[in-house]
Amino acid sequence: MIDTFQSDADALFASVVALRRTLHRHPELSGEEHETARRVAERLRELGVGAVQTGVNGTGVVATLEGERPGPTVLLRADMDALPIQEETGLEFASEVDGVMHACGHDVHTASLLGTAAILARHRDQLHGRVRFCFQPHEERLPGGAQGMIESGVLAGVDAVFGQHIKPDLPAGTLGVRAGAAMASSDEVYVTVTGEGGHAAEPHELAADATYVGSQIVGALQSVISRHCPPDVPSILTIGRLIADGATNVIPETARLEGTFRAMDEAWRGRGHDLIRRVAIRTAEAHGATADVEIHTGYPALYNHKDEAHLVADAAREYVGPDRALDVDRWFAGEDFAYFLQERPGAFCQLGVGSAHGLHTAGLNVDEEALRASTGFMAYVAWRYGREHAA
Ligand SMILES: [Zn+2]
Ligand SMILES: [Zn+2]
Repeated sequence: MIDTFQSDADALFASVVALRRTLHRHPELSGEEHETARRVAERLRELGVGAVQTGVNGTGVVATLEGERPGPTVLLRADMDALPIQEETGLEFASEVDGVMHACGHDVHTASLLGTAAILARHRDQLHGRVRFCFQPHEERLPGGAQGMIESGVLAGVDAVFGQHIKPDLPAGTLGVRAGAAMASSDEVYVTVTGEGGHAAEPHELAADATYVGSQIVGALQSVISRHCPPDVPSILTIGRLIADGATNVIPETARLEGTFRAMDEAWRGRGHDLIRRVAIRTAEAHGATADVEIHTGYPALYNHKDEAHLVADAAREYVGPDRALDVDRWFAGEDFAYFLQERPGAFCQLGVGSAHGLHTAGLNVDEEALRASTGFMAYVAWRYGREHAA
């Protein structure tokens, strides 16, 4: 079927690119994907892909294609939301919405999955089982849209789940997957240090200088990873924001630290939270201040199941050739597809798009050749899973 899917993908390429550009021009923030969902539903109806369910967990769209041969049910997922970023690519089809941009490639994911649906819809007679196309809202902002989709029942009867994400630093049209821990849990850390405000010339009169204590906490928190995290567990703790809003001659009363804690092991993740709290609170105490620590729990680490990751890797070698099927490293981004993979076997793969600018930047510029590979490839993965697991 590879040749068939490849020639279908070639034939559909121009229309998939056109659709991606339309989505790119009209990005919508998390939870507001109304127009995007309307376009998705319209296209699925044109393709005749089963009953099209809309309004799933807000703006989600789901449709299931029935194959003509017996077999399992595969779910393919794309996310649809954009980011609060002002686009600076200068592209002719750049965002027409002020301050909103598809800077994470969800336009690519959505257009690609519609291309995949078009390909599979042409070959129902060859399809073992069925394929559920799941267009998810709200990936970019906590709590994420995945859990709500799952609670709405999209996994009912599903045997395996697959998805993909663009990867700017990989050459366009390459594919990669990693078995096991592949993407990180992502938690937000907020620390408020309270000391005593006063004249900068009289720190000795004050209970504690929040600016100094805050900077000590930034340093002390580095021990959480370097002294406590097992060396074989990849983990990161970054404080990206430290605000102590005094002046040259004013000691402020409070300081605020904000950062991210990422891990690929759930046991360590829980311990890390305890250590962050303890180190921040006791460092503040040591200097006569207090620290209030809040940790907003984000998405869990993403684990690719071994058999399904191997299927995707093998399918990639066959579909794009061994030179373009890559062994990829762990990726410390967070992704709520992790919830799907907690419920069902499956794998999430990386699609190279060859952009000099990274994800979540105003300059992200996708090489659209990637769509030629991704549309047919996901069709092949779903078809092949069905054939291998046919009753
Ligand atoms: Zn993103
Ligand atoms: Zn994303």
